[in-house]
Amino acid sequence: MIDERRGTSKERGYGAAWRRVRLKKLAQDPLCQCGDFDENGQLRKRPRPGCGYLAQMVHHIKPISIYPKLRLVMDNLRSLTNGCHETLEKNIGGRPGQYGR
Ligand SMILES: [Zn+2]
Repeated sequence: MIDERRGTSKERGYGAAWRRVRLKKLAQDPLCQCGDFDENGQLRKRPRPGCGYLAQMVHHIKPISIYPKLRLVMDNLRSLTNGCHETLEKNIGGRPGQYGR
């Protein structure tokens, strides 16, 4: 019997499909969406305008380490600058358990 092929973590996390979805997200939302998150790193019910800078990366709201099936789901993605992502990760880090690291 052959186990289901899982690939390396690199293949699972950053394959061609992810690159496509990432580019699509950045094309759809080129500006940082930090205003979507509150000071605890949680999604706001009413998103605010972000910082206005061009996004540099795409963040998974629900981490793929816990929700691998949401890796390519647009609803689970937010465009962010590197700086805002760092802040967000710190804010999330203040509430361990909910997101994991
Ligand atoms: Zn921002």
